[in-house]
Parts: sequence; structure tokens; C-alpha cells
Amino acid sequence: MPWCDPCDKYLTPNSLSDEGGCPTCDTKADVQDMAAAVQPVAKAPWHFWVMVVALVLYLGWRLIAGGIWIVDQI
Ligand SMILES: [Zn+2]
Repeated sequence: MPWCDPCDKYLTPNSLSDEGGCPTCDTKADVQDMAAAVQPVAKAPWHFWVMVVALVLYLGWRLIAGGIWIVDQI
């Protein structure tokens, strides 16, 4: 969302002037804020991948251990 510092409010993309400025004070709106606000949400945190790897290793081990147990029963 484009942000205008002097007016202290968010601007809808449709309300911006042709130059991408604020319709009230004509200051260029801070469009960079929009990309900076969206990016951290799209990327998963590092500890999420640690959990995924740990889960895969654990389930992989359970599968091997289960296979050994089945072979032992025969
Ligand atoms: Zn403004």
C-alpha cells in the first residue's frame, strides 16, 4: 500500500496522481514500503525448515525401524 508521510495516511493506487504522488500534498508516495511489508510474510522462517528436516529424518527412521521389526517377526 503506498504511504504518504506528510498526510500520515495510506493511499489507494487509484487515488495516486499520474506521477505516483499524493493527490492532497503531491508528495511522491512511498511505494517501497509495499514490497518490504509483503516479502517477510512470503518467506518461511529458518526454524520451519529445521522442523521439516527433523520430521522427515524421524519418519524415515521410523520406516526403517518398522521394516526391521517386520523382518524380525518372520
Ligand atoms: Zn499527502
